[in-house]
Amino acid sequence: DVPVAGKVSTRYDLEKETELRFEVEAGEAAEQLELELLTGMAEVFGSELNRNKKYTFGPGSKIAVFTWQGCSVNLYGKPEVAYVSKDTPMLLYLNTHAALEQMRKQAERDNERGPRVMVVGPTDVGKSTVCRLLLSYAVRVGRRPTLVELDVGQSGVSVPGTVSALCIERPADVEEGFSVQAPLVYHFGSTTPGTNIKLYNKLTSCLAEVFSQRCEVNRKASVGGCIINTCGWVKGSGYQALVHCASTFQVDVVLVLDHERLYNELKRDLPHFVRVVLLPKSGGVVERSKECRRDARDEKIREYFYGFRGVSFYPFSFEVRFSDVRIYKIGAPSIPDSCLPLGMSQDDTQLKLVPVTPGRDLTYHVLSVSSAEDGEEGARKGIVESPVCGFIVVTYVDTQAQVMKILSPAPRPLPRHTLLIMDIRFMDMK
Ligand code: ATP
Repeated sequence: DVPVAGKVSTRYDLEKETELRFEVEAGEAAEQLELELLTGMAEVFGSELNRNKKYTFGPGSKIAVFTWQGCSVNLYGKPEVAYVSKDTPMLLYLNTHAALEQMRKQAERDNERGPRVMVVGPTDVGKSTVCRLLLSYAVRVGRRPTLVELDVGQSGVSVPGTVSALCIERPADVEEGFSVQAPLVYHFGSTTPGTNIKLYNKLTSCLAEVFSQRCEVNRKASVGGCIINTCGWVKGSGYQALVHCASTFQVDVVLVLDHERLYNELKRDLPHFVRVVLLPKSGGVVERSKECRRDARDEKIREYFYGFRGVSFYPFSFEVRFSDVRIYKIGAPSIPDSCLPLGMSQDDTQLKLVPVTPGRDLTYHVLSVSSAEDGEEGARKGIVESPVCGFIVVTYVDTQAQVMKILSPAPRPLPRHTLLIMDIRFMDMK
């Protein structure tokens, strides 16, 4: 084998229906890896590889190159691990796609709506990967499905602490994933649904409503249906949130990855016309540590401001006067029922907008810029249900001068003046 740019190269000849799994070492100093398809055909999580093109994978990437017909590939550089596996659930995943495609065809014929699919399971079973696969397969056969991202910890669409929806118009890019243009994003504010389950359920309903409205006016979106990615929290309120999601989206299919109890519970609790399917997880899915997840979240925020790979963004830094913005936190701390004012319930406190007085402790917090119209009290009503139009990070607070310095993707002035604070912080090391 010929070395490329001084890198060692290793050739893998893959038999049909096998996959090459590899991981790129994590850490800033780690070397990137290149992958090239030499002969045959192969795909990475549902997106086809072009022959003789070098694909680059950065530190921490965990990749599977699957082939239906057999192929040979070259890896340039030293992977942390690399091995070929014959044991993959890809055929089951492809069959799932085929079944969903049948449902779309039927929907087209009968002038009905296409399948709404919810993907559930504990952490690290490959939920996001299965969603990506099913969406890419659907779009490859000409469909226009919608990705609904409810994983507030590891969102594939926007920064952490949000839920969102994205219309998928082309397969995921092999290196970069789905192109994220004009997603619909709502502020949740933290990385676990448990911090405010009422708000989480409320936002799930908001997404369902907007999606249904879109389906009414857009036939392709309606037939394409949606694939909903969920959080790995499958017990207690986390489970209830899944049931709520199934009902508010009126899902037709639930794919349960690698969790028999969850499968049985959902079969018991969801209406009989919902098809609940148990699927195995892929042995290739890599477990991620707490640190790894935190780093991935940080990276997602960094990407939002600075871009990634070939595309660099240049964020702006400027001062904002306290008097020019209104900052809120959604949800008051819960208090015992007996202390609630007459006629008020805990639900009201979890969805309540609590004004935040700017102070030093705002530093490093991520704030969502609400798309809600600026205005006084009256306008406050719709803020929780309004999508966000962007994010900023507070980098410095000067209480004397009553100003804060922010990092913003766009130059001043802010497009709107209602800001929602997240629990999530970002320290800009650039
Ligand atoms: P979360 O707990 O965040 O919800 P998840 O269940 O959605 O996780 P994924 O994000 O889909 O899991 O997968 C975890 C990691 O495993 C990802 O980095 C993904 O690229 C990798 N991965 C998935 N399938 C394979 C495979 N077959 N071979 C190698 N790596 C894989």
